[in-house]
Amino acid sequence: MAAYEAVIGLEVHVQLATASKLFCSCSTRFGQPPNTNVCEVCAGMPGALPVPNRQAVHYAALVGLATNCAINRRSIFARKNYFYPDLPAGYQISQFDLPICEHGHLDIVAEGQSKRIGITRIHMENDAGKNIHAQGENASYVDLNRAGTPLVEIVSEPDMRSAAEAVAYLKTLYGIVTYLGVCDGNMEEGSFRCDANVSLRPVGATAFGTRTELKNLNSFRNVQRAIEYEIARQQDVLDDGDSVVQETRLYDAVKNLTASMRSKEEAHDYRYFPDPDLLPVEIEAAELERWRAELPELPQPRAGRFMELTGLPEAEVEVLVQSRALADFFEAAAQKADPRKVANYVLGPLLRECNARNVPTGDPARWAMKPEALAELVRIVDQGLISAKIANDIFGDLFSNGAMPEAYVREKGLGQISDSSALEAAVDAVIAANPAEVEAYKGGKTKLISFFVGLIMRATKGKANPALVNELLNKKLQ
Ligand code: ADP
Ligand code: MG
Ligand code: ZN
Repeated sequence: MAAYEAVIGLEVHVQLATASKLFCSCSTRFGQPPNTNVCEVCAGMPGALPVPNRQAVHYAALVGLATNCAINRRSIFARKNYFYPDLPAGYQISQFDLPICEHGHLDIVAEGQSKRIGITRIHMENDAGKNIHAQGENASYVDLNRAGTPLVEIVSEPDMRSAAEAVAYLKTLYGIVTYLGVCDGNMEEGSFRCDANVSLRPVGATAFGTRTELKNLNSFRNVQRAIEYEIARQQDVLDDGDSVVQETRLYDAVKNLTASMRSKEEAHDYRYFPDPDLLPVEIEAAELERWRAELPELPQPRAGRFMELTGLPEAEVEVLVQSRALADFFEAAAQKADPRKVANYVLGPLLRECNARNVPTGDPARWAMKPEALAELVRIVDQGLISAKIANDIFGDLFSNGAMPEAYVREKGLGQISDSSALEAAVDAVIAANPAEVEAYKGGKTKLISFFVGLIMRATKGKANPALVNELLNKKLQ
């Protein structure tokens, strides 16, 4: 059994979050009644003329800038000819010889190793519609609402060597497009999906082996499992002395396997040619500079900054920067209270509440709690107004009712008892009720102090100031 190395290249389709389609003014809204967002252009009527969407060009360029690509200030739309019922024109408008972006790269970290992955090109294209094969009916339907939706396809170099690297690359890319705000990131709705090209070669070989292409993977988990499955399958084929057939395969997430869809050789000669209905896409130098200047801080540099700010390790900070909105929430709170403590509240109780209530962790707009409230909670624990335990107990309420913590705590009478006359009674009662322990303590078993503290805490429902309780006990047990 020879040792093989996997070679993986990804083609990622990112749906651009424009209001209208790539070449017409139809809405891109998801989930509308079938064939309601359709006009002559996106239905492919002969003679209907496409007009490029400026916003889509802008977004595509932002993706290129954020992935270290060279931006072609002049790029060309080309027709990619093939027949499919959900592609009424008989061709997709894409880019071929001269795409909008080329020669980029992304730095990823997989299994603790950092690595640079090349990006070959990024081109704009329109999406197809959807064929619906009705269950139990002898008919198929076509819904053209999605036809004409703007996509960018980001093609990587075959630089990845494992499923883990492929997933790390995808997550890095996903972070970038969602931070840029050019994609809504909804993977279930297909806004970010990928085809994985996988081949094997003997370890040490320089030439690539024959690849298969796994189509339309729409979750990180499916990418991981589909690639792992495909590597193992190809390994078996090669070990049997057979050769891998170049083909397109579909991943079945339920059965966890890939199955042949069509062989590549017979599949296509797309007969690309420049679309005669469309002028080259031109971007003015000054405009490109404006776009460059509007790039937000991206997840990787932001994670580095948060590590410095909080002193927390990379793995924890990565959770904070997973969504731009969550990172913004953290940062707003961290400006008003100790950043490390704020981070711990976000990573602990806050994410716990989100999960318990099935609220997305990346969408603070859907929480009642505001960053100011989180900061205030951290401050009143620091100041001793409430204990950390009470803060934890009331976190769920604050999360869902949006109250400011200090007012809430005062209203509910949850403030810490930091007044010695109020605590003395509780301390005296505990001492009076436990004479044997008091004797033992006086006889040298000083560890019993925590036993007394525990009883007093219970008697005061956790509201006693622990430092003060210790002080009173020490005095009274002398
Ligand atoms: P196509 O459009 O036919 O899929 P491309 O030339 O655009 O072909 O390549 C698609 C992807 O396949 C790229 O991401 C590239 O890195 C990857 N790729 C090319 N050759 C191999 C190979 N032998 N093994 C794995 N990936 C490959
Ligand atoms: Mg391909
Ligand atoms: Zn239209």
